[in-house]
Amino acid sequence: SQDISPKAIVSDACASYSTLERLNRNVKPALDELTQTTDFFSHYRLNLFHKKCPFWNDENGMCGNIACAVETLDNEEDIPLVWRASELGKLEGPRARHPGKSVQKALPLRPLQGSLGEDVGESCVVEYDDECDDRDYCVPEDESAASKGDYVSLLRNPERFTGYAGDGAKQVWDAIYRENCFQRSSFPNSAKLGRDTSPRGPAAMDFKAVIEAAGRQQVLEQERQHSPLTPFVAKTGLEYEDECLEKRVFYRVVSGMHASISTHLCWDFLNQTTGEWQPNVGCYVSRLHKFPDRISNLYFNYALVTRAVAKLKPYLSQQQDYTFCMGDPDQDAVTRAKVMAVAEKAASVPQIFDESLMFKNGEGPSLKEDFRNRFRNISRLMDCVGCDKCRLWGKLQTAGYGTALKVLFEFENNDKPEVPILKRTELVALFNTYARLSSSLSAIQKFRVMVEEDETAK
Ligand code: FAD
Repeated sequence: SQDISPKAIVSDACASYSTLERLNRNVKPALDELTQTTDFFSHYRLNLFHKKCPFWNDENGMCGNIACAVETLDNEEDIPLVWRASELGKLEGPRARHPGKSVQKALPLRPLQGSLGEDVGESCVVEYDDECDDRDYCVPEDESAASKGDYVSLLRNPERFTGYAGDGAKQVWDAIYRENCFQRSSFPNSAKLGRDTSPRGPAAMDFKAVIEAAGRQQVLEQERQHSPLTPFVAKTGLEYEDECLEKRVFYRVVSGMHASISTHLCWDFLNQTTGEWQPNVGCYVSRLHKFPDRISNLYFNYALVTRAVAKLKPYLSQQQDYTFCMGDPDQDAVTRAKVMAVAEKAASVPQIFDESLMFKNGEGPSLKEDFRNRFRNISRLMDCVGCDKCRLWGKLQTAGYGTALKVLFEFENNDKPEVPILKRTELVALFNTYARLSSSLSAIQKFRVMVEEDETAK
């Protein structure tokens, strides 16, 4: 039912494909400039190695070991070591540890003694700790400085083909789509499922119960509907077209993120025969071109994040709200100008996503907490991704969408008039997620031309 011709409208967003593509031609250079030339937006802090997968046993479920990687590529042992999945998924470049509270107090006078690289103004990279908010759509980092994670260069670790596949990757995607099974109000406790009542979220043990409960509820619901779906199989995109707006939006965000990841791995693909990195049209056709609904969800995400960035624009210009480079006024001003350039372009089109329609009527208001908790579970699931680079970009993008949802649904909200200021990691994740979507839109357009050329040549 999805048409992706330029004039077609991206449903749930008030824009056609061609409008979004035109906007992207305007926004992309500014986004690339921001994410590729500023210290603030080219480094990300995250807890990449110290969190266990809270949903299943890492050793059985993860696919980060060499034996599992062998399964994912034909004749892996024939492939030079540097091109093997286990190697491709590793992080590159110097990393700096979180500075800890005492060093933070010393900033900005004494930049962190780290190892991020000679050209990096580290006072523009490290983050001050701040408190979390119950309006977050992502899981806050642990309180103790020791587990606050590392700073990673996003430029040194581009999102691209890693060879991570097989049962480990499938298990994560399946679990992500399972989060989409919102309960109908006729079922008891529906809003409580996956509820995260403590400020730091439930203990790890609770997640298993939540997943099991979700599975049980889903089976019950399927039996009730005489659905042909087998237990634990998430609904497909088309089945979501009949759902209410909120559930559909949830599904589309997840599917659009998946589509964007697939686009990057197909665009920056390793030809393991020649050792060259190049676009793989066959990969694009089998994962995206044949599934216009996935492409539509990717464009939908572009519209949604554009709207969030446009909505954030008035706050970004205010120095009292956001400082980009502590102790370095010149870099601070340059970074702010680059952020504003992106925000102004995002705000240059009429509103393309109307968040005020969500969580309003019917079961809408009760869905909001459920929606937020489910999104938090997806961000927790990223700790189950068994490839470092994939986990880095998976975590960054879930945090980016979480931030976009927070801006859309928690800013200028009548019940809570004060605006929650975003943390540094949220801002970096939001703008880099926008940049990922922007480069996906651009790659999809080029892939489309390649497919047409192939068809003409036949
Ligand atoms: P998958 O992409 O694993 O999809 C599984 C199933 O989901 C499909 O069979 C289909 O039924 C359904 N599906 C697929 N796409 C969509 C969609 N857009 N919407 C709805 N349903 C869909 N690999 C890399 O090479 N580089 C990376 O950076 C990378 N990052 C990853 C990040 C995460 C969080 C995860 C979980 C995986 C990542 N992977 C990455 C692995 C990659 O996403 C695939 O899992 C892998 O390439 C195997 O692909 P597949 O063809 O088996 O289908």
